[in-house]
Amino acid sequence: MRLSTDRHDRDGAGLVYVYPVLSRRSGGVSVGVNLNPDKTCNFRCAYCQVDGLVRGKPADIDLDLLGTELRGFLGDLLAGAVGADWPDPTPRQPSDVAFSGDGEPTSSPRFAESVALVATILDELDLRPQTRLVLITNGSLVGREGVARGLELLGRAQGEVWFKLDSATDEGLRRINDHPGGIERVYSRLAACARACRTYVQTCVFTVDDEPPTEAERAAYLELVRRSVRDGLGLAGVQLYGLAREVRQPGAERLGRLGAAWLEAFAAEIEAAGLPAVTRP
Ligand code: SF4
Repeated sequence: MRLSTDRHDRDGAGLVYVYPVLSRRSGGVSVGVNLNPDKTCNFRCAYCQVDGLVRGKPADIDLDLLGTELRGFLGDLLAGAVGADWPDPTPRQPSDVAFSGDGEPTSSPRFAESVALVATILDELDLRPQTRLVLITNGSLVGREGVARGLELLGRAQGEVWFKLDSATDEGLRRINDHPGGIERVYSRLAACARACRTYVQTCVFTVDDEPPTEAERAAYLELVRRSVRDGLGLAGVQLYGLAREVRQPGAERLGRLGAAWLEAFAAEIEAAGLPAVTRP
């Protein structure tokens, strides 16, 4: 079974919905749950690593198969039946089970049911709270009834959300995420998400044509951080990511990695603005 920090292969375990990733952050195994095996997303981020990304809504999923795959994979993982060639020592208890994958998880018609199912399986196997339940989302569908129900279930299961926010300007959201909604709508969704669950902001930073994010972009971002503190959103912090993996979208050749020092300096500004920040160069 393939497992690495660089290649997040969705077929790493040969399953439809479940895949293992070695987490750079925890040094342990993160188990991904992919509700978008058809590679559908309502965003088209400039840095997206999904090869063959399709704009649109995902097909329905087979919830029974998801349950079978997750129970089977976690059972094998805990029993040491998979990963003989993984780096030693790789802890057998996963650091998290994360809704992530090849598209926007909350766009799945089974999102709320999937959250309930995964929380139940973690409890069956007595894995919580050491194994966290995580949703990685672009946050654009937070206002939908089914998504709100899923977030409520996630909150009840002490899960957490990593909410994508790559720019605090309307122009930046269009340019980076191809998202026309505007920052005010994003901010109100972020606030709603933080009311339901422990929420981190997840931000990807990179160069375009060798230029880092502009002064105006950074200033707008820092003002949004200060505003979130003033408004009492209760955000848990910021995760500042560099481009760690291969970009699979048109224009990829224009994007480049920022050095660790750039990320550290921006993280220090975010902390000064009021939120804890960690970097993943
Ligand atoms: S939200 Fe995620 S899956 Fe969708 S385009 Fe952006 S990076 Fe890719």
